[in-house]
Amino acid sequence: MKPNFDKYMDGLVPAIVQDHLTGTVLMLGYMNEEAWVKTLETEMVTFYSRSKSRLWTKGETSGNILKVKNVMLDCDKDCLLVLAEPEGPICHTGTMSCFGDEGNSFLYELENIIAKRRLQPETHSYTADLFARGLPGIAQKVGEEAVELVIESVSNNADDTFLHEAADLLFHFLILLQSKGRNLKHVISVLENRHMAKEGAKNS
Ligand code: AMP
Ligand code: ZN
Ligand code: ZN
Ligand code: ZN
Repeated sequence: MKPNFDKYMDGLVPAIVQDHLTGTVLMLGYMNEEAWVKTLETEMVTFYSRSKSRLWTKGETSGNILKVKNVMLDCDKDCLLVLAEPEGPICHTGTMSCFGDEGNSFLYELENIIAKRRLQPETHSYTADLFARGLPGIAQKVGEEAVELVIESVSNNADDTFLHEAADLLFHFLILLQSKGRNLKHVISVLENRHMAKEGAKNS
């Protein structure tokens, strides 16, 4: 598997870097063949910097490297998708990604909104009220929503109440995670590690 570096005169291929756990797009850079080889060898994302006119390992001075988890080529091999684990804020402006701090899928946007409500409670906010109940109250609410979902799953209701209960559970689950100082990324990481351990055992 190798990108087609000869397709364009400058020998560069764009490389989109995504957080391997959240799917958040972190940055875009360009690789020439040398940068590609170095990226695979060192397992650290290395670009060819058009402004520096040299190889540039992301994080070489800041320490905020991108550890390579997986690389993919597009349909005609002229664009790279790099799935990586960021070691710190990836934009030189200090944000998590070059596209800001918000993430770019709705579930993570929701998680950010929940985090804000927790730190800056607003009046007339259901989320802020939940946090005000404290941990035992939040945990109880998750239990109730789980039971409601279970009941809906075996009921013969024709409408979409099952989906609404599923959404309720997911929402309250996010609240519980935050009140324990955790987030979705932590949970997905556990799932990924379990998957890797299983794949590893299969391949050995
Ligand atoms: P670093 O690679 O993180 O050690 O940063 C070295 C230099 O590269 C910085 O001073 C910036 O000029 C530039 N730089 C770092 N991160 C980015 C980025 N995400 N996008 C564009 N330029 C960057
Ligand atoms: Zn293409
Ligand atoms: Zn940036
Ligand atoms: Zn419910």
